[in-house]
Amino acid sequence: MSFLNETHDPSLESWVASANVADNGFPIQNLPFATFRVAGTNEAFRPGVAIGSQILDLAALATYQPWEGKAGEALAACQSDTLNPLMALTQAHWSALRLALSRALRPGSDLQATLEPLLISQAGAEYALPATIGDYTDFYISLHHATKVGQQFRPDNPLLPNYKWVPIGYHGRASSIGVSGQTFPRPVGQKRPAADAATPGFGPCERLDYELELGVFVGQGNKQGQPITIDQAESHVFGLCILNDWSARDLQAWEYQPLGPFLAKNFATTISPWVVTLEALAPFREPFERPADDPQPLPYLSDDTNRRQGALNIQLDVQLSTAKSRASDTEPTVLSSSNFRDAYWNIAQLVTHHTVTGCNLQPGDLFGTGTLSGPDKGEEGSLLELTQAGKQPLTLNNGEKRGFLEDDDEIIMRAWCAKEGYPRISLGSCAGRVLPAAV
Ligand code: CA
Repeated sequence: MSFLNETHDPSLESWVASANVADNGFPIQNLPFATFRVAGTNEAFRPGVAIGSQILDLAALATYQPWEGKAGEALAACQSDTLNPLMALTQAHWSALRLALSRALRPGSDLQATLEPLLISQAGAEYALPATIGDYTDFYISLHHATKVGQQFRPDNPLLPNYKWVPIGYHGRASSIGVSGQTFPRPVGQKRPAADAATPGFGPCERLDYELELGVFVGQGNKQGQPITIDQAESHVFGLCILNDWSARDLQAWEYQPLGPFLAKNFATTISPWVVTLEALAPFREPFERPADDPQPLPYLSDDTNRRQGALNIQLDVQLSTAKSRASDTEPTVLSSSNFRDAYWNIAQLVTHHTVTGCNLQPGDLFGTGTLSGPDKGEEGSLLELTQAGKQPLTLNNGEKRGFLEDDDEIIMRAWCAKEGYPRISLGSCAGRVLPAAV
């Protein structure tokens, strides 16, 4: 668990002026990590940390060896083209690096002259995936999503009896995860046979959807056979990003029984480039509570600390831009807004549940939370819910209608933490675009 320390002081400012602009999202209290390079070059991707509108090149800073101890070891791990070596260190290393960076970026720092030439504008950068992702697991932690989707498939029995006991998940496909800006052709596949047909349909997906999720990057892993207990779980989490689990609903409806999602989910998943550490999110912790008449988690999935501060107040929204809206310079349409604190399970519980069998996690493994829908109208994190599976199409800002996604539609997801008296902490944005089917 991360607790508040001097890096969270809301009054801290930076000598990087853009970091002090109200609500810029990347103040000195955030300090998220990505792998980047100058756009349009063949430079190697390398780790950087965001400060205001800039990126501090950590691989370049490492050559100066400005720090000793754990901060120095963590910075040395940034001489890489991925964040995996940094993720493989301990929470104490990440925390020491955060403190050293925070002090170096404050006005009056001795390191200002060293750091200034190592700043690159975010506007002039491009990003790679933050880490090499060995394994990807997608969970299903919104009771509101599970219930609304269940009502469509099983009106009499929307929520299966295991849901309130087991953090449900499936092992997903890591190879097709891309960073924000990802494009992919509309998937093709089998669909349920039409009423009068003897064979399944086949062709481009006609019910393409997104799912609004957060991604959880695993830091230090565990040895096979050695589960991570709930009190240790968060020390194995490096940080959070935004995740779009693109979903082919017609393929899914035909294939999902008996073993769950397969081709409906394996063609693309898009994540935001910036990974915000759990430590940066500490000011936005909230109690993790269950309704009084719901079962409490089994003992292995709960402890006092987790009950006291296991939830996170992270706001999310989804926007859609279309070929027509972009051509006419119409603002993207906001489709929904929701909050991570409404999830039925929390991050520590996912780590502990995933490893309770002895399954080993590795640095850079990624979890998706599952679609983060809220209880109210306008908080649905997928079109499946928002449009009642296409039966109630949405009307966009420019008058277009959407039941599911059309070719050249772009989905933009955003996430941020905000509260009175504290600078806004942004997770950035996650954009992806659907291209016509390749066949
Ligand atoms: Ca999902």
